[in-house]
Amino acid sequence: MSDNISVTFLGTSSAPPQINRRQSSCMIQYRGHKILIDIGEAIQLQMIINKIKFRGPLTILLTHLHSDHTLGLIGLLSTRCFYGIDSPVRIIGPPWTSSFVFLQLLAYRFIPDYNIEVIETKGGVVENNTDFFIESFPVNHVNQCVGYKFVTHTPLGKFSTERAEKLKVPKVMWNTLQRGTPVEINRKKIYPSDILMDTNVRPTKIVLTGDTTITDTVINNSSEADLLIHDATYPPEEVERAKKYKHSTSSEAAYVAKRARVKKLYLTHISNIHRDLDYSLKEAKAIFSESYFAYDGLNIELPSHNF
Ligand SMILES: [Zn+2]
Ligand SMILES: [Zn+2]
Repeated sequence: MSDNISVTFLGTSSAPPQINRRQSSCMIQYRGHKILIDIGEAIQLQMIINKIKFRGPLTILLTHLHSDHTLGLIGLLSTRCFYGIDSPVRIIGPPWTSSFVFLQLLAYRFIPDYNIEVIETKGGVVENNTDFFIESFPVNHVNQCVGYKFVTHTPLGKFSTERAEKLKVPKVMWNTLQRGTPVEINRKKIYPSDILMDTNVRPTKIVLTGDTTITDTVINNSSEADLLIHDATYPPEEVERAKKYKHSTSSEAAYVAKRARVKKLYLTHISNIHRDLDYSLKEAKAIFSESYFAYDGLNIELPSHNF
């Protein structure tokens, strides 16, 4: 089985949907985890078209609560019930997300057959498991909104029996250290890094901004990311409009990518004010050569680690 991370763009339009672009949504799949970032109104159809199964636990990350990022939520939650799916759903979003979700359930008189957990965040780690962690960070769009950073956990280095023996670590504790947990011997803490050999493996990092103007929090959190997915609502010349509505131009997104030294930039949340995408792309590439426009159905595979 491939150990790649799969990123599928399910909606790359700004708020009004277009014939070939639906409202915002992106799916990350990795080692059986499904993480949906924003959930525009066409989400179910887009999942069917892109052959993404509804079954299994699902994490939904909401960048903010504007309708073009959330309209698909109640529909997807209901369809899971029609299919008899009983695996849990976690919904992570900015403050007010709990009320937003539960008021909808109440309005529709909908009681799901599975567990829904809602976590509100203004910034910080929102998920941490053996395969990856996800951290949110504030962006600059509406009052409460966040971007998300997905980072794989790197495999731990090789166990050094020589170092373990030198530090007099009893054999029963070797396994614990090997799994990355510190142990205590005679009130002295021994850390995995004391025993495990260094590794040159680098984690894979994906950053999704949601809607935002260019801002330092994005630049800082995207530092050396493998993939940056950035708001590019407006064409290069619409700087004032981007500032007014707190979005970005495609060229501003390219500038962020350059400053953050990311590997690849995918531009999304594309409005039809971009009259000529080739022109917008040329301008972006002049700033950051690894710039691309995302499109609905685009799938990107990334290795889980970099060597
Ligand atoms: Zn939007
Ligand atoms: Zn918005």
